[in-house]
Amino acid sequence: MLMSTAYYQTDLYQRPLDKVPVTIFFGSVMETIHTDSAYMGLSFKDPFIPQIKMPIDPAEGRTLTSATAEDKTSNMSIQEEDDILHHILKLLHNHVETMDDADTLVNYGLVIMVVMVAVSTWLYQVLVNGVVCKDPMLAQASDFFFPGLDMPRNTNNRVGSNVTAVNVVQIPGLNTLGISMARIDFAPYGLNPPHTHPRGTEMIVVQEGTLLVGFVTSNLANGENRLISKVLNKGDVFVFPIGLIHFQFNVGQTNAVAIAALASQNPGVITIANAVFGSNLPISDDVLAKAFQLDKKVVDFLQAQFGPKN
Ligand code: MN
Repeated sequence: MLMSTAYYQTDLYQRPLDKVPVTIFFGSVMETIHTDSAYMGLSFKDPFIPQIKMPIDPAEGRTLTSATAEDKTSNMSIQEEDDILHHILKLLHNHVETMDDADTLVNYGLVIMVVMVAVSTWLYQVLVNGVVCKDPMLAQASDFFFPGLDMPRNTNNRVGSNVTAVNVVQIPGLNTLGISMARIDFAPYGLNPPHTHPRGTEMIVVQEGTLLVGFVTSNLANGENRLISKVLNKGDVFVFPIGLIHFQFNVGQTNAVAIAALASQNPGVITIANAVFGSNLPISDDVLAKAFQLDKKVVDFLQAQFGPKN
């Protein structure tokens, strides 16, 4: 519904004035409502509001009538739409006789809109990279805090390493900020096995020990995948570009520790052997035997090592 103060335009379509219904200026708006009170209000209620003069020859004696009546004069027919919305609009039309009625309706409309926005906000929380954004007015220091990254972690496992992630899961305040970190503990000869971070470049600094590190390029034009590798000592920094398979191997006889920075609040990790041979459900051993040029018995052995049960 649209309340409008009628004001004739003569510049459109080069038509005679009486052939131009006011509805033509509102595109898809099918019906406009003219109320006498609207003009009364503008013209007479407040003496300081200048009276609107119509650019129309008063000799014609044309008077303002309802939109429907004007449409009839221009032979423009409004299609009756047989739907609920149309009936509602028609009911409203019949009940809007004064500006006060219209104001009441507008106020009801605003209240309904506010309620709808509130409900939709509640139903559709904003997810960024799979994590809900927190209302900044409710944020606390604890949303930006993680303690104890100086503490050694347990490396008593098959690979002899332990990654302590400090990303948006541990620190909600990291959401959308594009950065995170990790501590990586290595037992002697412990390995952080070949893996990739699909959403973030990583760089590490060695705090203790000696690490053989490396990453493999994506497929190059000549079909090669180059290994970029180096032995790092305490204080050395190395970069693992986003998405590339990389590893760190403690080649020393003592524990090693590295701190990693990652260019995503949620970099993700794909451990190659686990993803390929340990997926749930398992990839067909026909597929893996052909892909890795292995006997199927070897594939089955590897799947047993990395399967979901292990
Ligand atoms: Mn990594």
